[in-house]
Amino acid sequence: MKRIIVAGAGFAGFAALKHLGRFTGTSPEYEVVVFDRNDYTTIIPSLPDVASRRMDQDLPKANIRRLLPRGAVFVNDEVRKADLDARTVSTGSNEYEYDYLLLAAGSVTNLFGFKQHLDPVHVLDSLPEAVRLREAFGGYLSSGAAHTLLVSGAGYTGVEIACFLSEHAIANSKNMKVILVEKADKAVGNLPEPERRYVESLATDLGFEIVTNSSVVSFDGADVTLETGEAFRNVFFIWASGSKRAIEDISGGFGSLPDGRMHVNRFLQVSGYENVFAAGDCAAIKNGDIYLRRAVPFSVASGATAGKNIVRSLENRPLKKYRPVDLGWVIPVYPSSAGKVLGIPVRGRLGLAFHYLTCGYRTHDLRSARGYLALGLKNIFGAR
Ligand SMILES: Cc1cc2nc3c(=O)[nH]c(=O)nc-3n(C[C@H](O)[C@H](O)[C@H](O)COP(=O)(O)OP(=O)(O)OC[C@H]3O[C@@H](n4cnc5c(N)ncnc54)[C@H](O)[C@@H]3O)c2cc1C
Repeated sequence: MKRIIVAGAGFAGFAALKHLGRFTGTSPEYEVVVFDRNDYTTIIPSLPDVASRRMDQDLPKANIRRLLPRGAVFVNDEVRKADLDARTVSTGSNEYEYDYLLLAAGSVTNLFGFKQHLDPVHVLDSLPEAVRLREAFGGYLSSGAAHTLLVSGAGYTGVEIACFLSEHAIANSKNMKVILVEKADKAVGNLPEPERRYVESLATDLGFEIVTNSSVVSFDGADVTLETGEAFRNVFFIWASGSKRAIEDISGGFGSLPDGRMHVNRFLQVSGYENVFAAGDCAAIKNGDIYLRRAVPFSVASGATAGKNIVRSLENRPLKKYRPVDLGWVIPVYPSSAGKVLGIPVRGRLGLAFHYLTCGYRTHDLRSARGYLALGLKNIFGAR
């Protein structure tokens, strides 16, 4: 029997499983084993909604076991290690051999070695972290009179969560100062300049202070000091300064970017390993001269190509090239948005509606799809 392991049941993993499942359901000589540290899959772009109580925590979830293709085996455990030369993955307690491996475990927050008083430091890379942030933020807002939200990182995740939490504070009649600390010389520097300036102006109109060319050097559990010497007292601290590959311990002779994304060829095979594929956030996929940004549409499309190519490889058929198609992007910066769809700028409530409707389209659960549809329509026609 040949074993195909899929590490991570997110956007890329499930897109691959659609193809792998059709194949293995009818072929008893193949076994598909799916690993995920959670027993549910998550619409990750909804984490700011959950953290700011705009969305129930169950809406972006769908049960993995119920969605798996016939014949696939689910292991609800974390992949801690992969050895590409030995062809094994390990969960710590068990080791599994594979014939084919798809790495699709996405990315997690990179703290870049920051380890001061981590308990009250919040990140936004998984549903449990979004729920933890939500609970802690509720407690923070209800204690004391002066509130300061300090976000390390003014990329899109940093600005997005700051906007959502600021709106939540306003809705609860709480005064909150918002500080965004950015190492680079400008906020959301990876966006095209007109959209970048628009997002920055939204943040400054909301009264946010953006400190550029600086970073957090110390945090004692309540107070933060920046590289510039500026200090902020009793802050609610969120770290959104970068991300890295979710499975760090992967040994083998492959190349990777500094953030751990693994180099793949046009067929999404990891460099040097014909039987190992990577898709989604953990793959460094070149599109012309640049690497694709981390985004849901590319994760789904690359996962689907990787799944098809594993099937083709098992059938000794030629592999298909992955050709990325970029239809656009929208960043929800509540109560507005910024983006470009099919080259047309999209802003405001229309962009928010588009965001929720595309999340609904991506969910695997009918109840969730209905929830997202309602949110989309509310942003087109109704109140906030
Ligand atoms: C706050 C935030 C907002 C975002 N908003 C947008 C947006 O609006 N639009 C957009 O296009 N993109 C957005 N993104 C990016 C998008 O979410 C990612 O590009 C996408 O989720 C990547 O898909 P994936 O399948 O590679 O990984 P994921 O969707 O993250 O799935 C990975 C799966 O692997 C599992 N896993 C992780 N580590 C392990 C392990 N060691 N062992 C076993 N299982 C593991 C996880 O539980 C998860 O189920 C956002 C990201 C964040 C963090």
